[in-house]
Amino acid sequence: MEEKIKSIFAEHFPYKTPEMYASAGRINLIGEHTDYNGGFVFPGAIDKVIMAAIVPNGLSQVRVYSVDIQEYAEFGLNEEDLPSQSWARYIFGVCREFQKRGAAVGGFDAVFAGDVPLGAGLSSSAALESCFAFAVNDLFNDNKVDKFELAKIGQSTEHNYCGVNCGIMDQFASIFGKKDNLIRLDCRSLEYAYFPFHPQGYKLVLLDSKVKHELVDSPYNKRRASCERVAKRLGVETLRDADIDMINSVKGDITAEDYFRAKFVVEEKDRVLAVCDALEKGDYETVGKKMYETHAGLSVDYEVSCEELDYLNDIAKECGVTGSRIMGGGFGGCTINLVKDSLYESFIKFAKEKFNAKYGHEPRVIDVVISDGARRLS
Ligand code: ADP
Ligand code: MG
Repeated sequence: MEEKIKSIFAEHFPYKTPEMYASAGRINLIGEHTDYNGGFVFPGAIDKVIMAAIVPNGLSQVRVYSVDIQEYAEFGLNEEDLPSQSWARYIFGVCREFQKRGAAVGGFDAVFAGDVPLGAGLSSSAALESCFAFAVNDLFNDNKVDKFELAKIGQSTEHNYCGVNCGIMDQFASIFGKKDNLIRLDCRSLEYAYFPFHPQGYKLVLLDSKVKHELVDSPYNKRRASCERVAKRLGVETLRDADIDMINSVKGDITAEDYFRAKFVVEEKDRVLAVCDALEKGDYETVGKKMYETHAGLSVDYEVSCEELDYLNDIAKECGVTGSRIMGGGFGGCTINLVKDSLYESFIKFAKEKFNAKYGHEPRVIDVVISDGARRLS
């Protein structure tokens, strides 16, 4: 990819050799629906990236070519210069968010491409924002903007220029990602810690169901409201400050639905911590067990799974896969699977066949390796 981007850059902008930058998509091993409850998430950057060739052009214009979309965009750096192409808005937004923070941004020429699957739950948009945020910081600010602020620049870009009201996890993982490490992020304090993740003899593989169920009422808001009601009943700010005994103690005063939602959230918080402990011991069997528990909780208690994802989870169990669960908010998308090398081929073959027989298409197979996040390549 690097050579291809460089040669396309040379065609478009033949006058200067660019700097090369990359940033990664991400997975979240465990810790789902915990962010808005002040709990933990546990993401890592992956070996699928957005890569860009960039050079300052001394103008107040950004000129950028997207290799994958085969489109060119050119825009100024003032608020009214918002480009019409949606992909270019991520780059424009990053520039604007630097300016809002009083940091420097000048015009530049860029060519970029990527291999993070779009819209599959691996956060290609965060990879794009983080790649350009890292580059702008390096090229125009001597890397003076700290890394957390770079993640926030990406998040604000989504909020203010792309209409996506996301949390910080995706950009955080893309910026802070480190090879062979997952990062536990405390969504209440924003403290984070690295944990080793290099499962020898196992692979991490995502199975993308390629389904996304459109839902009539807003299920996320309903889940959030349940969590907030139980927290209020317990007199705590978020369910981060609750445990299962506390929730059991008010069981009679809350609806059964709210009870099961809250139960999932406090159990999930403990599961993240248990997985961190297991990783410190290199105990991947426990990691896998917790992944299955999360899936069951998301499916039965939190009710955010769907038939297709439950089916993929059942197939994994049947094949003896170490761990498997829904990744992401639910109602479609991927499962993330921790699979012994020796089982990998047969699992993938079996999952494709069985899923295809039932739903008329094969799941997309996405192998991932935990890798570095945002970086300069040259
Ligand atoms: P995801 O879950 O993958 O982040 P989003 O819908 O949030 O999905 O972001 C996808 C958008 O990000 C695309 O529609 C496009 O505008 C931009 N994008 C991602 N990857 C690329 C790429 N390789 N080239 C151009 N634009 C990209
Ligand atoms: Mg996105």
